[in-house]
Amino acid sequence: KKKYDYLIVGSGLYGSVFAHEAIKRGKKCLIIDKRNHVGGNVYCEKIEDINVHKYGAHIFHTNDKDIWDYVNSFVEFNRYTNSPLANYKGQLYNLPFNMNTFYQLWGVKTPNEAREIIKSQIDQALITVPSNLQEQALSLVGKDIYEKLIKGYTEKQWGRPANELPAFIIKRLPVRFTYDNNYFNDKYQGIPIGGYNKLIDGLLGDCEVKTGADFFENRADWTAMAEHVIFTGNIDQFYGYQFGRLEYRSLRFEHEIVNEENHQGNAVVNYTERNIPYTRIIEHKHFEFGTQPKTVVTKEFPEDWTPEKEAYYPINDKHNNALFEKYKSLSKKEKNVIFGGRLATYQYYDMHQIIGSALKATATHFNSTN
Ligand code: FAD
Repeated sequence: KKKYDYLIVGSGLYGSVFAHEAIKRGKKCLIIDKRNHVGGNVYCEKIEDINVHKYGAHIFHTNDKDIWDYVNSFVEFNRYTNSPLANYKGQLYNLPFNMNTFYQLWGVKTPNEAREIIKSQIDQALITVPSNLQEQALSLVGKDIYEKLIKGYTEKQWGRPANELPAFIIKRLPVRFTYDNNYFNDKYQGIPIGGYNKLIDGLLGDCEVKTGADFFENRADWTAMAEHVIFTGNIDQFYGYQFGRLEYRSLRFEHEIVNEENHQGNAVVNYTERNIPYTRIIEHKHFEFGTQPKTVVTKEFPEDWTPEKEAYYPINDKHNNALFEKYKSLSKKEKNVIFGGRLATYQYYDMHQIIGSALKATATHFNSTN
């Protein structure tokens, strides 16, 4: 018998939930991560006593009461409500698009006035079948919202002009005819009190952990240690990139300590002009209603991805999706490897979806093994 029942590659939410569920069932697990910390992309680093979201701002939200109760069983969540602002040429607009935004754009005060303007701008766009992202957005919300609040931001995100981007990137653009700045429609949202590391620590409990350990540097040894491997890294790397590399968009973060108590008055401010190189500024303390004497702000710059950078957003176009399907069909043949999480499934998932999929995978797996 091998030393461990499960070797879990990657200590993000997927790996950590898997570890928790396996240990709960009396299994022996080792979780490894190539980074020098656990938690994957939800990891926070304390700077000036503020939890700084190192890999991008993370706001937990879900409609699923079971998932909400699950995360709250490890750490209590606060009442943080995401209500980002957009800064376009020095003017501030509320997001998501709602009556406050329409008042700021056009001075209208009633839903009917707002509906009328949006409808007339959609009609003026004269688009029947949108052939690119620009036309898609114009046909959904009209010219003003598109040009001031969508165009520049999206072009920075994807590094290409909006009329050269596929329409499918934007499926819906919800507009809300109430004065409600709550970004999410979900029943539950918040930030773990004390930060996301508490959630990860709660999940991992006393699971054996090894950080700074890359599966591929010692693949044979790692594999020999355990009966099963749970793999949450890049699936193309697992198969030696034999069909080619899956592509991503990356991000660069510039963190800065500012010597004032409150810098921008909100956790998230988007910059929607094309010629400002960052997409948003995050002021981390506001996620936890912090009152520390200083503050930490982070500018987020979208970047082209190259293999030495962090892979943040999959580019789910036809080419990459077809490539992924090839890797996926190889993965289906594995007997003792389970693939899970955002990198192994080449899909953007929010945290609650990753937790849901890990819980589903463990339920199925442990039902079939005993
Ligand atoms: P990860 O957290 O990426 O974990 C994978 C881990 O595997 C990493 O720690 C990595 O180091 C490790 N690993 C990879 N390869 C190897 C290897 N060869 N050997 C050892 N270890 C390896 N979700 C929300 O719900 N709300 C948000 O507001 C939100 N904001 C986001 C903002 C950004 C910028 C991004 C990119 C994502 C955001 N998400 C958000 C999504 C959220 O980050 C993911 O759902 C979640 O972190 C995925 O967990 P995971 O375990 O699949 O992957």
